[in-house]
Amino acid sequence: MTEKDWKDYSLDTQAIRAGHRRTHEDEHSIPIYATSSYVFDSAEDAALRFTGKQPGNIYSRFTNPTVNAFQERMALMEQGERCLAFASGMAAIMAVGMGLLKSGDHVVCSRSVFGNTVLMFQNYFAKFGVETDFVELTDLEAWEQAIKPNTRFLFLETPSNPLIEIADIKALADIAHRHDCLLIVDNVFCTPALQQPLTLGADLVVHSATKYIDGQGRCVGGAVVGNHDIIEKDIYPYLRTGGATMSPFNAWVFLAGLETLALRMKAHCDNAYALAQWLQQQDAVEKVHYPGLSDHAQHELAKRQQRHFGGVVSFELKGGQEQAWKLINSTQMLSITANLGDVKTTITHPATTTHGRLTPEVRAAAGIKDSLVRISVGLEDIEDIEKDLLNGL
Ligand SMILES: *Cc1c(COP(=O)(O)O)cnc(C)c1O
Repeated sequence: MTEKDWKDYSLDTQAIRAGHRRTHEDEHSIPIYATSSYVFDSAEDAALRFTGKQPGNIYSRFTNPTVNAFQERMALMEQGERCLAFASGMAAIMAVGMGLLKSGDHVVCSRSVFGNTVLMFQNYFAKFGVETDFVELTDLEAWEQAIKPNTRFLFLETPSNPLIEIADIKALADIAHRHDCLLIVDNVFCTPALQQPLTLGADLVVHSATKYIDGQGRCVGGAVVGNHDIIEKDIYPYLRTGGATMSPFNAWVFLAGLETLALRMKAHCDNAYALAQWLQQQDAVEKVHYPGLSDHAQHELAKRQQRHFGGVVSFELKGGQEQAWKLINSTQMLSITANLGDVKTTITHPATTTHGRLTPEVRAAAGIKDSLVRISVGLEDIEDIEKDLLNGL
């Protein structure tokens, strides 16, 4: 079936079947095309393919059948017109910037984005004359006020890392479009299984496939999904030249990851919800950040915008960094790693790891306290996860 036919199927079905064009070998599972280049029938054929007049593979920096299958499946699951896969989530974000921005442009970015995303705008795009203003994720007025005549796009993550705040995607898409800007949403925390930003008006979605899409902590990869023309005209030429392509092996791992994504996300969310409620009852815990809790500032918005509340919980301990490190060091089972979206529960101290390269002022403005601990809740038995945390609490 073609990409178009799969549009009529639900996400659960697309996740398992879309993207695979069975070859003459009748394979049931999608093959890994380990080939760097492709051959042509004739010199004429080669010339036509290089001009783009004839579709077909040329070189695996441009296209690869296994990577194409991943791209097709992702595009359908996000309800986007087109997807491009990248070597990492950061490579995807880099490509969006390289493709869309020029010197003199302006970006408005949420203050609560992945640490390397902040550095990308602040240290690298700034070197080439692109100015970025950072605003409070949930303050719609601040977003609108930060927009200038030369603003090209708004960039955000929702839920945010590590404070799990929720942005109103639809409202921000309206603001962006009223000012002739694009809205770009990093959908790593929710994945299309929980939230489809393009259906709410976002123009592009970026992904780190490294997280829930792989789901078992094996490969690094990324993706950009969205409007066909933006991707075809502005981003694909950069990918072809810039070269941060996804490897076919990684695409094959991610394709398998997508097959169980919805099922895993539901289980992650159930465990995270239970853990958030349990943490709230612990004396050593000052505050729990989880949108499923009724005291979360955007609880209603999360209910409206997401299918479930997500698999990441963060919380502040009474005390400071010392208490946070003590808790982390007391665990026996949880993995002390900054990665998230794994079947294994991971625990991290954002202020000294993922957000450690930010200046203390930027970190404070983002609300990331020294007492904050982030847990990406895995799929182990919830009672074993709680038991492991109890020692340090
Ligand atoms: C991990 C992550 C990224 C970067 O992805 P990599 O695959 O590590 O390059 C971007 N955004 C979010 C929200 C992430 O968690």
